[in-house]
Amino acid sequence: MHKLNRPTQLNELLEEKNSYKGTPSAQKAWEIFGENGDRTKVRKQLEEIQNYLCAYCENSLVNDGHIDHFKPKSSNWKLTFDWENLLVSCTHNDSCGRKKDDNFEDYWINPYLTDPTEMFRFYSDGQIKGNTEDAENIIKDFGLDSPRLESKRKGILSILVLTINALKDYPDALEAYLESEQIVIFPTAYTQIRDKTLAIL
Ligand SMILES: [Zn+2]
Repeated sequence: MHKLNRPTQLNELLEEKNSYKGTPSAQKAWEIFGENGDRTKVRKQLEEIQNYLCAYCENSLVNDGHIDHFKPKSSNWKLTFDWENLLVSCTHNDSCGRKKDDNFEDYWINPYLTDPTEMFRFYSDGQIKGNTEDAENIIKDFGLDSPRLESKRKGILSILVLTINALKDYPDALEAYLESEQIVIFPTAYTQIRDKTLAIL
């Protein structure tokens, strides 16, 4: 997770929020909002600001993703069209929006509101650990330690570490490699591991 900056909301969403009074059900109202393309516009706006990465696990949203209500609309109908409550999540069942489902805990953090930078630490074998008890619980609740995510992070991070170590005696080559690297997915894990590996060279 990393801090996200919310852009100005679309008028289509604001109008929907202002006109929705709780009926039909939040689920039904959300479905109707999806019928004329307005919901897709909102998703595209969020995807762009999130660099096409899931707001929680930072995996790719290409061909994958849905708008997640940070606080579930099933128990907070007033937040169904609330801009501050919407993020784009991946759609894997073992993590993120699908995993948290209709639950909510007060210690959860919305990366559009809270900077999570200091909360988690990553390892080159793909593991993630929390720096506080809340962070540890968030990892479990959001499935950020799912074997699927750990394995995918390991693939990227282990290559990074191997390459840095292989180039450590060739500063020009190392610099060129680091400059040419395009951080595509898992930017928080990548940056942490890159900086940690460089610090102990
Ligand atoms: Zn995710």
